[in-house]
Amino acid sequence: MAQLEQIASHTYTITTRWVSMPMYEIAPHTVVLMDSGYHDESGELLEVLEKNDLQVAAVLTSHAHYDHIGAHTLLREKYGARLYADLVSAGLLSSRDALQAQFPGYSDAELRILFPYMEFGIDEMLEPEKGSVEIGGHTFGLLRLPGHAFSHLGFTTEDGICYAADLMICGEELRNAKMTFCTDVEQSIRSIRRIRGQNVGRLVLAHKGCAEDKEMLCDLNIAKLEGQLERTRRMADSWVSFDELCRRVAEREYRKLPVFLTLARIVRANVACLVDRGAMEKRVEGNVVVYKGI
Ligand SMILES: [Zn+2]
Repeated sequence: MAQLEQIASHTYTITTRWVSMPMYEIAPHTVVLMDSGYHDESGELLEVLEKNDLQVAAVLTSHAHYDHIGAHTLLREKYGARLYADLVSAGLLSSRDALQAQFPGYSDAELRILFPYMEFGIDEMLEPEKGSVEIGGHTFGLLRLPGHAFSHLGFTTEDGICYAADLMICGEELRNAKMTFCTDVEQSIRSIRRIRGQNVGRLVLAHKGCAEDKEMLCDLNIAKLEGQLERTRRMADSWVSFDELCRRVAEREYRKLPVFLTLARIVRANVACLVDRGAMEKRVEGNVVVYKGI
């Protein structure tokens, strides 16, 4: 059963086994939810909302990953919740073609089985360049925190909470997780540095919960990303193909092999960052692109 916890005067978190979702009370028993978690856990989310007699007026979307939008359409059907996302996330959720762009390598049939709930229209566009959005007479700050996904937003509340979604991980996740998923590792590091030096309020992360020491958390997350770059660089100690590099990462980093396509995206992001930094070379040998750490 998901847990409801009050963390500021008007902000609460709903925490399931895998994610924390903040919600802000804009009127008695009416909330704005930030992300909606895993589709598999949407029953738990709805149960907590019902038990506490809460209506969802709106859902803010941090990014278009499956573990953040799993209950969006259910909340719209049940409560008439308005779904908010920025242009990129709205686009990624808008069609089967967009879903294929997000999950390269999966067939159409696989996507229909895996993510049948990831194709829907958004009701309201978030415009991060405006810095905030008004909902029900309350202002939610919009922070552009790119790196983890094609587009990734953070939200601030009037009572001093900052939901940074997947910008970072904390607690058990931080200690256990192997290489972290990023679309762009350098951008992630930059976003973390920016939030470290900014007074954004108390941080809440999707995976998961509240972070007490923001600076330490930022430093640990940056060190983690720098560590995975360095290990990737060292694994390419001679010219290797991308597939061989993925095989080495899988063998050395994961006791249980993760979905290979996800692993390939993680390694791809590490390689791109290393090449941009001048820490890895690439060239074509025969018909194959090969890489070597410098
Ligand atoms: Zn994500």
